[in-house]
Amino acid sequence: MSCDCNEFQNLTANLQLLNKSILDIVTKLDEQTSMLNRAVFKSATHCGCIEIHATKQLYSPSKTLEENQLDLDTHIEGTLCPKCRDKIEEEMGELLFYIASMCEALDLDFESIMAKKFDHLKTLGIYNLL
Ligand SMILES: [Zn+2]
Repeated sequence: MSCDCNEFQNLTANLQLLNKSILDIVTKLDEQTSMLNRAVFKSATHCGCIEIHATKQLYSPSKTLEENQLDLDTHIEGTLCPKCRDKIEEEMGELLFYIASMCEALDLDFESIMAKKFDHLKTLGIYNLL
């Protein structure tokens, strides 16, 4: 099953009933971000399919950005089990729903925002985050 961003935004707009106000959308987006973060952490703390071992990221000034990138760590060990994967995907989907809702409320185009960011990432590559 696939969908494009315009279809997603249009369907989101058609399903907006309770959270049409920008105030509701902003607060739901914030709440949903927390729900997603919680699902990620519960994969480690409740399920245990992944472990999070955070340590300081080491950047070497003598290495290139690309070389440093290879040394960086996600701090995640293990892989998501099917149940945790489903939960995180569900929460990410909800987050996208509220982002699309915000686009609709502000008369912005979800797809062109993604396309603009895609071009930006392609142009700047690894340097886009500096
Ligand atoms: Zn799990």
